[in-house]
Amino acid sequence: MPGLIFITGGVMSSVGKGVVVASIGRMLRSRNFSVNAVKIDPYINVDAGTMNPYAHGEVFVTYDGGETDLDLGHYERFLDVELSRKNNITSGQVYLSVIMKERQGEYLGQTVQLIPHVTDEIKRRILETAEGFDVTIVEIGGTVGDYEQLPFLEAARQLRLELGDGVVFVHVAWVPLLKTTREFKTKPLQHSVAELRRYGIQPDAIVVRSERPIDANTARKIALFTNVPQHAIYNSYNVDTIYKVPLLLERQGMGEFLVRRLRLEARAPDYREWEEFVAKLTSPRHVVKVGMCGKYVELPDAYLSIIEALRHAGAALSARPELVWINSVDVERRPDRLHELDVEAVIVLPGFGKRGVEGMIECARYAREGEIPFLGICFGMQLAVVEFARNVVGLKEASTTEVDPDTPHPVVHLAPEQRGIDALGGTMILGNRRIELVPGTLAASLYGSSVAVERHRHRYEVNLEYLPKLVEAGLLVSGWREDVRRVEIIELPGHPFFIATQFHPEFRSRPTRPHPLFLGLIRAALARRLEGKVGARSAASPLQAA
Ligand code: GLN
Repeated sequence: MPGLIFITGGVMSSVGKGVVVASIGRMLRSRNFSVNAVKIDPYINVDAGTMNPYAHGEVFVTYDGGETDLDLGHYERFLDVELSRKNNITSGQVYLSVIMKERQGEYLGQTVQLIPHVTDEIKRRILETAEGFDVTIVEIGGTVGDYEQLPFLEAARQLRLELGDGVVFVHVAWVPLLKTTREFKTKPLQHSVAELRRYGIQPDAIVVRSERPIDANTARKIALFTNVPQHAIYNSYNVDTIYKVPLLLERQGMGEFLVRRLRLEARAPDYREWEEFVAKLTSPRHVVKVGMCGKYVELPDAYLSIIEALRHAGAALSARPELVWINSVDVERRPDRLHELDVEAVIVLPGFGKRGVEGMIECARYAREGEIPFLGICFGMQLAVVEFARNVVGLKEASTTEVDPDTPHPVVHLAPEQRGIDALGGTMILGNRRIELVPGTLAASLYGSSVAVERHRHRYEVNLEYLPKLVEAGLLVSGWREDVRRVEIIELPGHPFFIATQFHPEFRSRPTRPHPLFLGLIRAALARRLEGKVGARSAASPLQAA
């Protein structure tokens, strides 16, 4: 029977439970166990696809087209695995399938109830996903005490009863530091554990999240009041990078504790690659200013995977990306301000809808004309094509029909298979597609290959009718979708680095395997500085580490 680790959260949300989960996964992966991680989101949405990024951050897309919670991104990056849509379970999915089964008569005349029918469906989904792995970590989203979490806690409690020692509970809770008395206050944590016990769950271990390291007294107090032995109280205090958290918890003995507790074979962990990555990440020799242009810039979590992908690429090149957030709505008001930002690379970010679009187009133009290394992602690629059509081809009114349905020059339009779809949820072009890379192009040389497999999330695409005009004016298509002839990558020969993709490269970047397009972008920015186009901030050659 595979091991299950349930993670619950106490006191408040947004304290980095997902990173703790991912770090626990890393500790077990470093011992070469096969590890899977599941996120439970107790909301009624079937998936994260229909949610506003302002509220929930980015939608993470899995290879099989799941539109999931951003925690799955942390899991993939820390575990170095590819997870499926099944790894994100929501109340919406659970209720939907219970109700469908009821309509189909599968419950044979029974009264369908929260317990056992809903809890059985939750257990079935968890066990199905856990199949074949040594350990599966299940993060129960939200905070203990939330009404909507109850069926999930109940299902977890039942699994412990059924599977005994194969199930471990880890509770993650915030312990505030009271500035006036410089004291750690454990009462909220104590209450959250008391609440958990009310549902029949006694945690086996506690991870204390805190601003600074907690002292032994605080740990002792927590142990006493929560009935958890002191050696199973771990502390994840704030550190300068999330990638240090597995090392922090490992040093405190948490990896060994879990292995023992799950009765797994004792193995020495191997952190060589991870430590090497963290060392490079935290001691960069250069700083590269990357302009990030989009409309959700007030909430950087909306672009989480892109930020992480930049960090991975930066670490490999010994450069720390310094993100300069460019609100595309502001650019519309003051396009002249762009020049003052002094950025060394520009990313035009993914997005939807009309607001801020002209600002994103302006950013693409700024990078093209200023010969600043440029990466356009999804909407960023579509808008780079619009910009090129307007300002290079001369089709002044060119646009995407997403923004202007009546444009005389729809250089970007709804993909044919998207026409007639009226439901919003789960209906975009989603997940992996194979891409043919055109030999001799920048894309082919960056990938070092003739094919790529990347994840998608879009409805619109480059209108092939306009391609001859665009190509004639100097735009190069360097990546084609393999199954149907669709533009996947464009570039501008003659520009030092101008590349844009219909897909989302960020989802496949890993700490120790940075994505070639992000690597290319940072490398190009460093090379440009070396040529003296921008003020050098370091005497050493920025390319040495490449
Ligand atoms: N709005 C665009 C589309 O639907 C781009 C989507 C995106 O950037 N993810 O095609």
